[in-house]
Amino acid sequence: MCPEGTPAPQEEFWKQQEQKLLDQLKEQIRLQEISKLRDLAKLRCPKCGEMLDQEVFYEVPIERCPHCLGIWLDAGELELIAQREHSKESWLAKLWKNMTERRKKMDSGDSEAEIPMS
Ligand SMILES: [Zn+2]
Repeated sequence: MCPEGTPAPQEEFWKQQEQKLLDQLKEQIRLQEISKLRDLAKLRCPKCGEMLDQEVFYEVPIERCPHCLGIWLDAGELELIAQREHSKESWLAKLWKNMTERRKKMDSGDSEAEIPMS
């Protein structure tokens, strides 16, 4: 007979095996939930959840939300738009130029990198 509160060594082993299986199952369920959420979120507005419309802006494909009118850009697309818009000297081109010049100055060690927004 075992003293109360102290499980036999075999019992302890099976408990640990059970816990391992449970942890593995929980992890599988968690990964399935993440993949489901990703599928649901695909091509939807990150702000309101509406399906995004694809449009072309300065020859760059962008996603626009028809509900809240937000615009979603893929990596590198903002730079592309700013470059193409550059000749027109619009606010976006100015903003991008400004940010790039400020970053260059900061990279070269100039801590007083202040470029006025005009
Ligand atoms: Zn939206």
